[in-house]
Amino acid sequence: MPARRVRGTIVVVTGASSGIGRATATEFAKAGASVVVAGRRKERLDELVGEITSTGGEALGVPADVSDQEQVEALIDQARGHFGRVDTLINNAGIGIAAPFAEQSIDDFQRVMDTNFWGAVYACRAVLPVMRSQDSGGLIVNVSSILGKRGVPYETAYCASKFALAGFSEALRTEVMSELIDVTTVFPGLVETEIFDSANNQTGLEMPDIVPKMPAQELARLLVQNALLPQPEIVMALDAQAINFVNTLAPGLLDVMMGQGLPFIEGFRRGAASSGS
Ligand code: NDP
Repeated sequence: MPARRVRGTIVVVTGASSGIGRATATEFAKAGASVVVAGRRKERLDELVGEITSTGGEALGVPADVSDQEQVEALIDQARGHFGRVDTLINNAGIGIAAPFAEQSIDDFQRVMDTNFWGAVYACRAVLPVMRSQDSGGLIVNVSSILGKRGVPYETAYCASKFALAGFSEALRTEVMSELIDVTTVFPGLVETEIFDSANNQTGLEMPDIVPKMPAQELARLLVQNALLPQPEIVMALDAQAINFVNTLAPGLLDVMMGQGLPFIEGFRRGAASSGS
C-alpha cells in the first residue's frame, strides 16, 4: 500500500461521540486533518467540535444513526458538500451485547448487526463513488474486534457482527486495491471506553477486570500512523495479539479455555456470595 498524508485531508469518523471514535477524531485533528464527526448524541458531537475548533482544528458534527442507510448517505454527502472530498472513512460506531444465545431476542441480535455490520456497509457504499472520483483515492478503516477473529461465549451477536465486518472488509480490500483505495481492518483487544457500561448485558455477570485495557488515545494514534502507511490489518494490543496467536496455532485449546472459563467467570456474578443474592 502506498504512503499517504494526513495533514490537510478530510476524515469522517462514525461513533465519534465517545471512546475510540472520539479519541481518533481528536488525534486526526491534532495531526492536521479536518474531521467530520458522527454519532447519535448531538450534544456530545457539539462538545467535541468545540474542543477541536478551540485548539485551531477544523471539525463538523453530523448527527447520524448508522443503522439507517439514508442517514449514512446524508453523512457522506454533508462531508463532501462541506469539505469537497472525503479522504478517509473510519467505520467505528458499534454497540456491545452479552447474552446467552437462546435467551436473547432476535431484535437485539439484529440491532447489533444493523449497527456494527450494516452501518459500515452503508458507509462504504456511500463513500466509494466519492473516493473513486478523487485522484488520490482514499482510505477506509473498519473497526472490528479481536472477537471478529475468535468467538467467545455469550457474544454470539457481537462476534457475528464483527466476523461479518472483517470478512466484508477483507473482500472489499482486495476488490478495490488496484484503484488507490486502501482498506484496513482493525481488531482491538480491550480498550478503555464506555462500551463496558453501555453494553446490553443480559448475563447477570460482570466481566472480570483482570486484563489491562489499552487507552483509547493510544489506539487512535495508531490509526493516524496507519493513515500514513495503510496496513491490511491492525491487531492491538498484546491481549488481542496473544488471542490471535493461540487461536491460529491451537484453536481447540482456546475452545476448552473459553468453555471451562465460564464457571470461573460465573464467580464474578454481581453481588454473589457477599450480598447473598
Ligand atoms: P463507545 O461506547 O465509547 O463508543 C461507541 C460509539 O458508537 C459511540 O460514539 C456511539 O455514539 C456510537 N454508536 C453506537 N450506536 C450507533 C448508531 N446506531 N449510530 C451511530 N453511532 C452509534 O465504545 P468504543 O469506543 O469502545 O467502541 C468503538 C468501536 O470499537 C466499536 O465498534 C466497538 O465494537 C469496537 N471495539 C471496542 C473494544 C473495547 O474494548 N472498547 C474492543 C474491540 C472493538 P452515540 O451513542 O452518540 O450514537
